[in-house]
Amino acid sequence: MTAEVLVVGSANADLVVAADRRPGGGETVLGGDTRVLPGGKGANTAVAAARLGADVALVGAVGDDPHGRLLLDSLRSAGVRTELVRTVDRPTGAAYITVTPDGENSILVSPGANAALRPADIDPAGAKVVAVSMEVPLPTVEHAVTAAAAAGARVVLNLSPVTELAVTTLTTPTTLAGVDLLLVNEHEAALLLGAEDPANIDPAGLLDRGPRSAVVTLGARGALLVTEDGPLEVPAPRVEAVDTTGAGDAFAGALATALATALDTGTEQDHVVELRRAIEWAARVAALSVTRSGAQPSYPTADEVARWSPPDTGAMV
Ligand code: AMP
Repeated sequence: MTAEVLVVGSANADLVVAADRRPGGGETVLGGDTRVLPGGKGANTAVAAARLGADVALVGAVGDDPHGRLLLDSLRSAGVRTELVRTVDRPTGAAYITVTPDGENSILVSPGANAALRPADIDPAGAKVVAVSMEVPLPTVEHAVTAAAAAGARVVLNLSPVTELAVTTLTTPTTLAGVDLLLVNEHEAALLLGAEDPANIDPAGLLDRGPRSAVVTLGARGALLVTEDGPLEVPAPRVEAVDTTGAGDAFAGALATALATALDTGTEQDHVVELRRAIEWAARVAALSVTRSGAQPSYPTADEVARWSPPDTGAMV
């Protein structure tokens, strides 16, 4: 039986090494011990949603190898259904992450098994919300969006990480018109809008690309909800950030969960109010996650979110 929330996206082993600096061409730099962590945008989003209590299945692909088993274990122990995660004859996707003392990451992604995720793997029938992210082949992303919209599901597209090719391919009116909520960060928004400066974009222009509404995430500043009523600022709770890895995926998982439970009916006005509530909750989930280290291990349960009083609700700056 289909899950209420279907997540379509990548599953990667994150291989993280701390180093004083990142190597240049032809250079060897010694780093610390390798940490192997479950990651990938799809797996992270699914784990975040499951922790929050959603009935969620991941549509993905892993290899028949230790990284694939690590990912399946992590998904299952969070309560994600994995019957739609195919084991294929490619190595599990991997992200080689170098972290330098300034806290900056540089990441090389080897898609591996994720590249084997096909349009035919996706059957959205019965799902309330389909949450799609990148790091899987573009025809699969396109099919996930159009098939989910045709099946009457709400579609959340997290356009991350975005490439020029993805922008050209997905901005055909038919694909993004199937999206209820387009989720982008400032850089992705700028790329989509053809703007030079991410700090100087007209977010209303995102709706001209086809989605019904959009959210621009702004890191510690929170998020901007864009609907036909105009842009609305949703500040983030102010926290002492320990590790922001996977904050965007926590936000996406929380939004998908909120949409699956809250947005069944209503007038246009209710639609915007409900979206704002969903985003306020997603901002709490993501803020709580950045106070803990790691991506998947940092994701809270709905109870933890309800009990949590952030030190300061923050103000948009
Ligand atoms: P980003 O992908 O960095 O824009 O982050 C996604 C979402 O996570 C943001 O819209 C915030 O709601 C939340 N977030 C990220 N970083 C922080 C932070 N330092 N403090 C509070 N919330 C954060």
